[in-house]
Amino acid sequence: MRKTVLIAALAATTTLATPALAAEATVQRLYVLDCGTNLGKDQARWSPGVNVGQPILFSDNCYLIRHGKQWLLWDTGIPDAVAASPNGVETGGGAIVARRTKTLEGQLAELKLKPANITHVALSHNHGDHTGNAKLFAGSTFLVQQAEWDFAYADPAKSPLPPGAKVTKLMGDHDVFGDGSVLIISTPGHTPGHQSLLVNLRKTGPVLLTGDAVHFKDNWDNRRVPSMNADKDQTVASMRRLDTLMKTVGAKLWINHDKPTSDAQIHAPKFYE
Ligand SMILES: [Zn+2]
Repeated sequence: MRKTVLIAALAATTTLATPALAAEATVQRLYVLDCGTNLGKDQARWSPGVNVGQPILFSDNCYLIRHGKQWLLWDTGIPDAVAASPNGVETGGGAIVARRTKTLEGQLAELKLKPANITHVALSHNHGDHTGNAKLFAGSTFLVQQAEWDFAYADPAKSPLPPGAKVTKLMGDHDVFGDGSVLIISTPGHTPGHQSLLVNLRKTGPVLLTGDAVHFKDNWDNRRVPSMNADKDQTVASMRRLDTLMKTVGAKLWINHDKPTSDAQIHAPKFYE
């Protein structure tokens, strides 16, 4: 029984409160949305001492999950406005060029959805290539860690969230729909309140969405920690936790920014079941 497996996995990998899982459940659909690309001018920013001076192209996906009549959007990507600049926009103090060929709103429209249809938005963390379109979702409930709230969202003048947003502040793991089908997994380190997502799909099986807990496969294989991360030890501990979780539930690891991983996936309007 997958329910039992998920409960066991959480119990085995966290000392935080374990979410209450009511029944075995799966979600109907998961769409991979193209939320842009980031060209890193020097890979070593993410892999200290390795491939110094070499550029690296990152994918940047958003993920849309259908649970009955509810929709959960995981991350909101690079701002849609960047699509108006075909040569991209420099970010990260000039270290990165962000590009977008399709807007998030356009991809939702292709699925006959408007931002108002999205009941829940969960953000892996506060960086601009994940929160770029959060303000589109003024009617959604945002799921963020209390630690990330304190760090980046509490000040309305700096927050990427819509003014007056409905926010559920989490203290660790969270069972999004209360049935064990989608679990937020606390993975601090890249930022103080970074989180990942475990999605249980009927045909595909469990999938683990990393946020920026790791940026690409070679960093995962070597447990490397980018220089900009908030806490190195926490980052390594979070990677270890994801690894245990993967092995316990048999989840596939979908590293958001790993371009070869993204290129091998089916993207919206097609979907995973
Ligand atoms: Zn980040």
